[in-house]
Formats: sequence, C-alpha cells, structure tokens
Amino acid sequence: MEKTILVVEDEKAIADILIFNLQREGYQTLEANDGPAGLRLALEKAPDLILLDVMLPGMDGFEVCKRVRETSQVPILMLTAREEEADKIAGLELGADDYITKPFSMRELMARVKANMRRAPAPAAGETPPAEGKLVVSAERGAVYKDGKPLELSVREFDILTFLAAEPGKVFSREQLMENVWGYEYYGDLRAVDVAIRRLREKLEDQPAQPRYIITKRGFGYYFSDSEAIEGV
Ligand code: CA
Repeated sequence: MEKTILVVEDEKAIADILIFNLQREGYQTLEANDGPAGLRLALEKAPDLILLDVMLPGMDGFEVCKRVRETSQVPILMLTAREEEADKIAGLELGADDYITKPFSMRELMARVKANMRRAPAPAAGETPPAEGKLVVSAERGAVYKDGKPLELSVREFDILTFLAAEPGKVFSREQLMENVWGYEYYGDLRAVDVAIRRLREKLEDQPAQPRYIITKRGFGYYFSDSEAIEGV
C-alpha cells in the first residue's frame, strides 16, 4: 500500500520540491502551509509520516508536534534551520522522531524518510495482553506491556528498547545506539540519544530518575537490566 506523507512547510518553493521528490519516490502526499492546517491534516488524514517545518504561521512546528503527540505516534521529522541549534533538541523533547537541518540534500532527506517510515508498534487487535506485574518487551508482538497494559511508544522508543533488551546487561555507547537504532550516519548530535532515552524512561519506569530497566553506565552508555522482562526478542 502506498504510504502518505504530510508536508507542513510555509515556504512554497521548499514545499513544492519536497512534494515533487516524494511523489517521484512513490509516496502519496498531503500539503499544509501553516501550523493549524498541518495539525488538522495530521489528525484527520492519519498520514504515515510528517515532515514538519519549525517556523510556521499560525502555530509553530513545536506546538504542532506536541499536539499531534497527544493522540498519535506517527513518525515526525522536523525541518530546522541550521543556525537554530537549540531547535534540534527542542523538537526531540516534544516527541519528534528525528530532525534534518536546512539546507538539506534530497538524497539525505529521502534516507531520513525511509529510516523513519516505520509502522508504530501496536498490539494486535484482540490479543490477550501478558499477565500483570512485570514489563514485557516483545519484538514478536510488536509491543511493550507494563502491568498488563500496552505502552504508547514511538517507533524510535520501541526500537531502542528492543535493541537494548535483546542483550541484557550489555552496555552500548551512544554512538552504537545511534548507528544501530537510527540506522544511518548521523550528522547531528548524540544528545538525541539522551533525549530519546529520557522520554522512554518516562513511559517505562516507575521512577524515571531511578530507573530499574534502562540503566546509565556513566562514561560508557546505556544497558537494559532485566532479562526476566523479555519475550520473543
Ligand atoms: Ca518556515
């Protein structure tokens, strides 16, 4: 089935070239030229991925991202201006999956789109959730359960968790996580890993400041601690 990408970009020349190239790659496209229209299309049309500019009339990209995340785990790729260093991390803090800085090459953009175009994990309908009382990380089910309830994780958060949980106790550096989970040479910033881990802990841990499952090995990286929790990874 054809994937649909929503492009939210107020600069018409950029929007046009994005849409031209996305369609040439076989994607269907939706276009919005301001924040409110972008939010409306994101919620009504349920696209498979959103390319979201930061500086938009009506409502900025951060606010759009935050509101979309209230109800959807759709992959969001923020388009940020190179000089706005703080914007990169700000988008990730609000739940964006990735960012790309302007100006970007189409080749780079398409690589990012493909890397982020993943179905959000969700338990199969009608499936009996696992028993209460523990964390179940199941790559097979495509879901993570805590106390018998599925957690709402983004694709990236799910990928990080299943990657770490596949080898409990093994410490992975931020560079290794970037390479294996993000899946391409990253031009940006290893803080993206820390932000993603922090958001994941907020969903996963009873006390995110004193994590039980995803542990920081200071000066080295992160590891998953609980081999009891794994099922079919
Ligand atoms: Ca703009």
